[in-house]
Amino acid sequence: MSAIGVFGGTFDPVHLGHLRVAWECMEQAGLQRVHMIPAATPPHRREPVADGVTRAALLRAALAGQDRLVLDERELRRGGVSYMVDTLLDLRAELPRAPLCLILGTDAFLGLERWHQWERIPELAHLVVAHRPGWTLNGASRLAQLLDERRAPGPEALHDAPAGRILTLEVTQLDISASRIRRLIRQGREPRYLIPERVWNLIERHGLYGHRKTA
Ligand code: ATP
Repeated sequence: MSAIGVFGGTFDPVHLGHLRVAWECMEQAGLQRVHMIPAATPPHRREPVADGVTRAALLRAALAGQDRLVLDERELRRGGVSYMVDTLLDLRAELPRAPLCLILGTDAFLGLERWHQWERIPELAHLVVAHRPGWTLNGASRLAQLLDERRAPGPEALHDAPAGRILTLEVTQLDISASRIRRLIRQGREPRYLIPERVWNLIERHGLYGHRKTA
């Protein structure tokens, strides 16, 4: 049964850090595809700057030309606060036996204990933790213990169970964040080469994130 990746985020806007992490996890873990799932209202942070329709449109533009990373709008359709546990339950109902692999950057993994019903998450999916610049896994005691108990020796271990293992992966380190991109745009600078060109074209055309055309 093919393993499926799940990559949730605010994607406000999507950037090359997100895309490269999803792509490398897909390749390294042997995932058939990765569902890129923008949150409606994220539980642990301020409301996104761009609305869901806009964030999905940017993501759709970013994903054009390939079919291994796919836009999945289920959280936007569901509306309200987007809890990953609900999303995984929904995917699990569609794919009762497939290995589901929730991809998280190190920062997101370190915040896992704050997630709604977080203890259910490793029962519903494997975790694939991709190293993110500036963050280290040491010292997070309860999560370190979870990692010890469930660590997958390699990607193969994700394929013979539907959920429950944790794989850590080294991926290309791209120190890019959506907040920095929004800040650059507000300051009148261009975040070229940090986001896909198609995404930048849409931001410029529609004046998103406070972008103002210079004459
Ligand atoms: P913001 O700066 O607005 O907080 P962000 O860039 O962290 O946004 P999110 O949409 O909040 O992006 O992140 C979604 C997921 O992507 C999280 O699991 C996060 O760890 C991961 N992620 C985002 N950027 C990177 C990156 N550069 N390297 C590795 N993981 C990343």
